[in-house]
Amino acid sequence: MKLDLDEVTVGYKGVPVLKVVSFSLNAGEVLCILGPNGSGKTTLFKTIMKLKQPIIGKVFIDGDDISSWPFDKIAGYIGYIPQNYSPVFSYTALEMVLMGRTPRLGMWSIPNAKDIEVAVESMRSLNILHLKDKAFTKISGGERQLVLIARAIAQRTKLLIMDEPTNNLDFGNQALILSQIKMLTQKGMGVIMVTHAPEHAFLYAHKVLMVKDGHVLAYGKSEEILSEENLSKLYGLNLRLMPVVSENYPSFKVCIPGVV
Ligand code: ADP
Repeated sequence: MKLDLDEVTVGYKGVPVLKVVSFSLNAGEVLCILGPNGSGKTTLFKTIMKLKQPIIGKVFIDGDDISSWPFDKIAGYIGYIPQNYSPVFSYTALEMVLMGRTPRLGMWSIPNAKDIEVAVESMRSLNILHLKDKAFTKISGGERQLVLIARAIAQRTKLLIMDEPTNNLDFGNQALILSQIKMLTQKGMGVIMVTHAPEHAFLYAHKVLMVKDGHVLAYGKSEEILSEENLSKLYGLNLRLMPVVSENYPSFKVCIPGVV
């Protein structure tokens, strides 16, 4: 899996909201996108999934310009977990995971035993099989995120796009979700993830894309991009980075605002 954006400008009715974005993502990598709300991240995701055409520029998957790809091919390749997803109907958790098989089923076909086995196995791999008969709307935020990750696993996507996957989760569930994302990348999935916590990028990102005021502020390897200077510019604050001694995460730092 390789995703490349080549000088992509995105927007609405020809008016750009985010200009000249270039990045690449390989199998097993996490790209964290940091940037204020309204900076065009969701619009960029829609473009990567071909739900919007770029105003300028191209999106390539494995070297192929996706503008010629049919939608089912894209859906079989890219999984998307939006923020605070809430379905209209009261599906069970297992039914939600089974929806991940839809790109592989015909329009009117029903899931077969193999689809159900894949969905069950996906839930088991995340230790959430006990949720299978519960209503998706009645489980916790963290459990919902895990169900949606299970859906992407069942979908057999190679690339997963997550919009603030730890939004509204308690600290324990944030750590759980992030560790499951890491597990997916260790199995070769590429992940693009929006976060508002620089620490998440320090812990999990191979690459970081910072966007602000319609432009890319910085892009590259996380250890180079996550600097006091870039983070201070991004959030418009005087930020300090404090190193934390950790065997597992040798370059981990916490970000502290306003410390002189
Ligand atoms: P983010 O995901 O970073 O919060 P969005 O991509 O949702 O940013 O929005 C970027 C900009 O595009 C915002 O100014 C927003 O108002 C505008 N925008 C989003 N959706 C539409 C739309 N359907 N039509 C016109 N403008 C839109």
